[in-house]
Order: sequence, then structure tokens, then C-alpha cells
Amino acid sequence: MPVNVLFSARPEQWPVYEPLLSEGLTQAGLDFHLATEFEPDQVDYVVYSPASGLLDFSPFTRLKAVLSLWAGVEKIAGNDSLTVPLARMVDDGLMQGMTEWVVGQVLRYHLGMDRYITVQDGVWAPDAPPLATQRHVCVLGLGALGEAAARALAALNFNVTGWSRTAKDIPGVTCLHSAEGLRAALSSAEILVLLLPDTPATENAMNADTLALLPKGARIINPGRGPLIDDDALLAALKTGQVGHATLDVFRVEPLPAEHPYWAHSKVTVTPHIASETRPVTAAQVICQNIIRGEEGKPFLHLVDRSLGY
Ligand code: NDP
Repeated sequence: MPVNVLFSARPEQWPVYEPLLSEGLTQAGLDFHLATEFEPDQVDYVVYSPASGLLDFSPFTRLKAVLSLWAGVEKIAGNDSLTVPLARMVDDGLMQGMTEWVVGQVLRYHLGMDRYITVQDGVWAPDAPPLATQRHVCVLGLGALGEAAARALAALNFNVTGWSRTAKDIPGVTCLHSAEGLRAALSSAEILVLLLPDTPATENAMNADTLALLPKGARIINPGRGPLIDDDALLAALKTGQVGHATLDVFRVEPLPAEHPYWAHSKVTVTPHIASETRPVTAAQVICQNIIRGEEGKPFLHLVDRSLGY
């Protein structure tokens, strides 16, 4: 009997992923049927993005796993109708893209590039920026994406502090955890990067109290998820100058509503959730690898801990 793989994502992704997944599964010698529609009780694996609108997994009685195309799984991790393993996307292409975006945004702040890009005021003020060795950058979240970004920043000689739920050891990065660790991490964060997942424990991680711990004028870069920041607290901190500028890629409501104060704010850069994306060529390999592991009875890679939400 063939292994039935339901591709449940945006329709325009199907022509991109279909040949890549077919090739990977064929090369593995698997007897499979890959389609965008099946009778639910015939499906073995769902390749999933929340954009498909699939929410009720209860009719999928033969399902072995859901394989997310997204790294962030906040839209499905708490779904009670899902009782089989959920794997999230850990993709080299996504990691590379995020690293490039974060390093770019950090360098923009570090070098004060906006000063010369957006203001041509005829003032000759030759203030050279400091070296990276004199700059403190903090990355909240040291998972697949946070660790890659922290390593790249450390390789550029920034003073990098990272914070995660559990203890880590990353060369060149001062790794902290716990509530006390967060306070210490934030106290030196001239540039703060948020790469935490959206879970009940991380909601409003940056609030009035934690924003107050930052050095005055700190810059915030959020490619993680919108709910990591208490928006009212950030707007207040921007007003007092406690936060000097914020670059926000993700928001509680996306697309960011036209009337939202972030759009017109002189100290906010809005980017439309483009920091990085799953890259089909590398992501299809990850999906195929997990289907093959499932068929061989091996544990799935990149499993989500549903009790933690990531
Ligand atoms: P991971 O699950 O690999 O890493 C999450 C990190 O956050 C881990 O280091 C984890 O700690 C830490 N963490 C989780 N909860 C807590 C907590 N309560 N306190 C302290 N630390 C915590 O995720 P990724 O690195 O792959 O992705 C991170 C997020 O990036 C995604 O969830 C998604 O929201 C976002 N993203 C954004 C994109 C964009 O284009 N803007 C694209 C892709 C992803 P520990 O290591 O100890 O478990």
C-alpha cells in the first residue's frame, strides 16, 4: 500500500514542492502517493502550513505525523484535534536567510547607516562608528535561528550575549538562562534581537519592566513573533528615548493594519514578515527525511514539544 502524503499549504506552493518532494521520496525508493486532496482517513503524513486553513485533524485516523513547513508553530501547537507527532521546519536555507537579515539589521544600527542614507543635511560630522568589539548585542532565543545569528555576530567580533530557556554552550557567545539571566542579558543590550517562539511563556517578553532594563537608547530588532513585544510599552519607551529605534518584521496582526502607529513612527522600521522564509529546495529534503524516518520506524527530527508550544 502506498504511503499517502497530503500537501496542505498555499495552492501556489504545490507546483514548487511537488517535484522536489516526488524526487526525494522516489530516490528513497518509497512507494508513495503525493496529492493536495485525499480522503482524510487515507492520509499517512500531512505536509502543513496554517495558510491551508486545515484545523480539524480528527478525521485523519491513519495519520502518522504532521510536518510543518513553518519554523513557528504557534498556530498549530495547541490544536487539540492533533494527537500525532508534530515536526517543525528547521531548514538550512531559512537559517541562512535569517542570519543574513539579522546581521544586516545589526550592522545598520551598529554603523549608524541611516544617518547617511536618510539624512543628507550638508553637515560634515566625521564621527566614525566604534568597532564591533565595542558593541554589545543580545539575542533572545538560541534555537536553530537564534544560535546561527549569534554565531555569525560573534564571528564579526560583536560582544554577543544570548538567552534561552535551557543552558547552552556556544563558542564566542555568553549564554544565559533563567529570569536572572534575562535581566543580565538585557542590561548590556545596546542592540537586542528577538528570536524566541510565540508561546504562552514568551508573550510580552519585552514589556515595560524588561524594556526599562535595556541601556538607554537601545535598538530592538524583532524577526521572532509580534506577541513577544507589548506594543504599548514599546511605543512608550520609544517616546521617552529608552528605546532609540525598533525594526519590526512581525506583528500581532498581519498584515499590519494601515492605521497602526508603527507605520508612521519615525523611530520604527516596519518590514512585512520577510526576515526569512522556508526555502523549498532545502525544506523538501527535510520533509522527505522525516517521512522516510517515519517509515523506517525512527524518531522524527525537529519534534515540537506540545507542552512548551515550540
Ligand atoms: P527554536 O525552537 O529552534 O528556538 C527557540 C529558542 O527560544 C530556543 O533557544 C528556546 O530555548 C528559546 N525559548 C523558548 N521559550 C523560551 C522561554 N520561555 N524562555 C527563554 N527562552 C525560550 O526556534 P527557531 O530558532 O527555529 O525559530 C525561532 C522563531 O523565529 C520561530 O518560532 C518563529 O516565530 C520565528 N521565525 C520568523 C521568521 C520571519 O521571517 N520573521 C521566519 C522563521 C521563523 P531552548 O533552546 O532552551 O529550548
